[in-house]
Amino acid sequence: MLGSAAVTEESSVAIEDGKVVSIEYVLTDPSGQELDRSGEEPLHYLHGGHNIVPGLEAALAGKTAGDSLRVEVPPAQGYGEKRKTKPQRVLRSHFPPDAQLERGAQFLMQGPDGRPFPIWITKVMGREVHISAEHPLAGVTLCFDVKVHSVRDATEEEMAHGHVHGPGGHHHHDDHDHDDHDHDHDHDEEE
Ligand SMILES: [Zn+2]
Repeated sequence: MLGSAAVTEESSVAIEDGKVVSIEYVLTDPSGQELDRSGEEPLHYLHGGHNIVPGLEAALAGKTAGDSLRVEVPPAQGYGEKRKTKPQRVLRSHFPPDAQLERGAQFLMQGPDGRPFPIWITKVMGREVHISAEHPLAGVTLCFDVKVHSVRDATEEEMAHGHVHGPGGHHHHDDHDHDDHDHDHDHDEEE
């Protein structure tokens, strides 16, 4: 299930904070049901930037390009325990006009204290959008099959922003990504 794309970077560079890492992955639940996978392109993330769930980030530390690993991440190291929060209904007009409103999409909302917090869309019904403050994968043990494609140093700008720029990374200021990989794009509504 994991492909055999050529490893292009030197394979001796170990993953640590401040490295940009590209991985190919398949995510399943403990019963083997597939929940997510990397697309045509590997996923690029900044190690140490909390771009991916803590359990996976910790397991990748010290690995090098070409390594494969299987990681089982409990909810506490993944998307948190299930809290049984009830979805709220808000009007579509609360979202930016160009926002792609679809199930699973993540947005940042302004809290009463002015601090932003993430919400996820659970359902879209006409002018009404159902949102939840709970990640869709809260309470789920995550089983990752991962292959490390490449490891490189992050640029200063990437370090300052806390995420990857360029091909496969965060497309800044223009094409914000609202695909189903919301766990690696927690900057949907930045700036
Ligand atoms: Zn940026």
